[in-house]
Amino acid sequence: MNKDQSGDSLYTKAAHDPYDTRHHGAINVPVYQNSLFAFETHEQFDLAMQNVLGHHVYSRGNNPTVRNLEEKLAEMEGGEDAKCFASGMAAITAAVLSVVQQGDHIVCVNHAYGPTREFLGSYLVKFGIETTFVDGTELSNWEEAIKPNTKLMYLESPTTMTFELQDLRSCAQLAASKGIKTIIDNTWATPCHLLPITLGIDLVVHSITKYISGHSDCLGGVVIGSMELMTRLSNSEYMLFGGIMTPQTAALVMRGLRTLPLRMERHQRSGMLVAEHISKQPYAVKVHHPGLPTHPQHELALQQLIGFSSLFSFESFEPLERLKAWATKLQYFKIGVSWGGFESLVNVNVVRSGDTERHIVRLYVGLEDPQDLIRDIDDAAAATLL
Ligand SMILES: *Cc1c(COP(=O)(O)O)cnc(C)c1O
Repeated sequence: MNKDQSGDSLYTKAAHDPYDTRHHGAINVPVYQNSLFAFETHEQFDLAMQNVLGHHVYSRGNNPTVRNLEEKLAEMEGGEDAKCFASGMAAITAAVLSVVQQGDHIVCVNHAYGPTREFLGSYLVKFGIETTFVDGTELSNWEEAIKPNTKLMYLESPTTMTFELQDLRSCAQLAASKGIKTIIDNTWATPCHLLPITLGIDLVVHSITKYISGHSDCLGGVVIGSMELMTRLSNSEYMLFGGIMTPQTAALVMRGLRTLPLRMERHQRSGMLVAEHISKQPYAVKVHHPGLPTHPQHELALQQLIGFSSLFSFESFEPLERLKAWATKLQYFKIGVSWGGFESLVNVNVVRSGDTERHIVRLYVGLEDPQDLIRDIDDAAAATLL
């Protein structure tokens, strides 16, 4: 049924589905708004119950609308299978718990997504699982942190406040040589701009809430990987925790996914224009965007990434109140968390390391005209910073 599309570009993978004989050729898989599936005979029921994920039995396991999205995401990411979850955090916690057990040790990159760090560094402690956080920019830091009981290296490249990269191929090789599994949060780059599985990473997680859904109207998450790892996760963390994606949400996400490659191309271009403009401003002392030649890992970024997305940050010596006044003055950048939708966003953060305190402004460049955004930035700066 699924003809081999491995040669197709992401544009084609996102836009094209094989003709679907099950749904009268409906161009989108309908929303299967049902919790259970009934059987004509008890014999068929008994057969399905032997493998509930391979049949349609119950929507906590296998719903056709959700399954369609999972197959599409697995294909786009270059994985063998995928499972969708109610949020990025539901996907991340399930992925982590599928590869560790009591007494294990995890090495995680510094500055990973905050709730992920809290889950690894604090929550898992009560199950006897310990995490060491490392500066992920040097492979030697990972090597030194590995212990005999290390079972997982957790990556996020780049991190989404300070935009530090990890060398994924080297990390994957190191992990494989020691029987350690690797998970990467690929939310920033999306499959359009980074394919970690092709570099040897075991499991990819995404917050679907961001670029993949792309319209700031739903939450979701996904885990993608080999059939072996995904089967284990599907039968345990997916089925037992029950933090699944609803069919309504899956249909919304599929609608967003159709234009992901198109949106990412635009986000890349607009994000670069705004980052280049910010890098020339006197109030920006350092711009954290891997696409800028001034980024300390720009060379690695060019080798490893297929493209750049439009979330970046800059550091400033300006007092916090003035930076916040500037952010408030902005017309097109809304103040808020999250990113990946159509709308530009801004927030001002204090990042502490030791006794140094850095003021980091995070900007998300949406789908507005970048020249309007640049004018907005300059107008607000003239009123508050300059
Ligand atoms: C938002 C985000 C998450 C968590 O996703 P939710 O859908 O909010 O649970 C994880 N990782 C990154 C990098 C994120 O930006």
